[in-house]
Amino acid sequence: MSSVFEYQCCECGRCYARDEVTYLCPACSASWKPGMPLKGVLRAEFDYAGIRRRLHPRRIDWRLWNAVEERYFPLCAVGNTPFTRIDRFGTLAGFANLWAKNDGLNPSGSLKDRASFLVAADALRTRARTLVAASTGNAASSLASVCAAAGLKCIIFVPAAAPKAKLVQILMHGATLLPVRGTYDDAFRLSLEFTAKYGGLNRNTAYHPLTIEGKKTAGLEIFRQNGGRAPEAILVPVGDGVILSGVHKAFSDLRASGLIEKLPRLIAVQAESSDAIHHFIQTGHYRNAEEPHTIADSISVAAPSNAIMARQAVLESGGFSLTVSDEEILAGQKKLAETTGIFAEPAAAAAAAGMLKLKGDARIDPQARIVLLITGHGLKDPGASLGRLQLPQAVEPDLGQVEALLNGE
Ligand SMILES: *Cc1c(COP(=O)(O)O)cnc(C)c1O
Ligand SMILES: [Zn+2]
Repeated sequence: MSSVFEYQCCECGRCYARDEVTYLCPACSASWKPGMPLKGVLRAEFDYAGIRRRLHPRRIDWRLWNAVEERYFPLCAVGNTPFTRIDRFGTLAGFANLWAKNDGLNPSGSLKDRASFLVAADALRTRARTLVAASTGNAASSLASVCAAAGLKCIIFVPAAAPKAKLVQILMHGATLLPVRGTYDDAFRLSLEFTAKYGGLNRNTAYHPLTIEGKKTAGLEIFRQNGGRAPEAILVPVGDGVILSGVHKAFSDLRASGLIEKLPRLIAVQAESSDAIHHFIQTGHYRNAEEPHTIADSISVAAPSNAIMARQAVLESGGFSLTVSDEEILAGQKKLAETTGIFAEPAAAAAAAGMLKLKGDARIDPQARIVLLITGHGLKDPGASLGRLQLPQAVEPDLGQVEALLNGE
């Protein structure tokens, strides 16, 4: 049984009935122009008093916080990803109680499946036939995969330079692929023009409010897998700021439902050249990132869609933000892979890089229970890692040669 909810604008606070709006707050979004963060992003507000009444603290019905009824769910195994302790990586980073939530193990290899899943469920509820999305690559490959499972038509706009594996996924799942000669921000604008003229349900991140609700399930799982408690902090790689807002929403819902008192501190990790949200958090003033050019393609964005909500989320949680360089990302990716068995794509590895960078930082207790949210699988972009690796010379099938090689002769 899911609960009733209404949408509330994160800027003006106006409320709308569930089916009164599809995307943004009509009042606030009127002043939005392409090339800036979205205005009037909506948050689903549940009937928390009703949830409290129906809640059995020892036998929690997780469907209470579902924004779409279970009977509309597509048949694909999204979510329920592993949550594991990562001690050897923790030792490297100087933290004693480190955990990884490995969302690279979703069907399409990224956390984006959670958002695609819920928007597709709502498409099935409202009988929309076609889903449209602009993406740096993962939201697109994810939507293509979920649409294939749900029997929905899928149209995708991505920067032509997106990693090949992600383009292959989109095509394999039978979506219509429109590679855009331009940036993610260009693809985002183009997809909005497309759906305004030709229809189709637009799944763009934050633009469709259920993307936040979908990503929320990662936070709910962390709570559940952590023994029904909030960890002290969660490191989240941040591009548009929707994953972070979704994780915040999970704990905010749990707090409103009486299950926790304090939010985990949310630590936003951005790439140096794609730092608009970090800058906004640090200074209180918003400006776009000038020319994002990070190897972490999934967090490469000039004007993050959900900058306003993400900043509110970090500040409300008592967290903070930091940036990491591409070199730090690749080093963090390698160390995580070597010490945990988890191969994260560069954007996901930003969380690991951030953790290494926070070694000895007074803002965070080295004994605290901290979770790294691993948002995407490394096999989505092996090219990024290959640059730092040296493929060994081949040997003849001869043991002598193997011995010579291992002895460095
Ligand atoms: C999309 C994505 C992110 C960033 O999520 P936002 O909601 O854009 O902040 C991080 N890592 C991976 C692997 C992603 O696909
Ligand atoms: Zn508004």
